[in-house]
Amino acid sequence: MRLTCPHCGPRDRREFYYAGADVLLNRPAADAPPEAWDAYLHLRDNPAGLTRDLWYHETGCGAWLAVTRDTVTHRIDRVEPVAAPVPAPARKGRRA
Ligand SMILES: [Zn+2]
Repeated sequence: MRLTCPHCGPRDRREFYYAGADVLLNRPAADAPPEAWDAYLHLRDNPAGLTRDLWYHETGCGAWLAVTRDTVTHRIDRVEPVAAPVPAPARKGRRA
């Protein structure tokens, strides 16, 4: 599977970290009861068909992306940025 990052272009799926489908739409309020946070953090659906998932371009630009895809056909419908890329921190103590 390949994802087209809006910043980097088409890339192999292994460059991305999958954060899940539920994190985009169902985040409880900060003062929600522990049961709501437990369900949010640990209970996952396994839908067949169209989903909208959160992915992180881990070995690329560092952007968080919302990916709309079909889990049955593996068709990617849309890849949208949900946060700007975060540049990697400069390494200290290394000299060229
Ligand atoms: Zn990228």
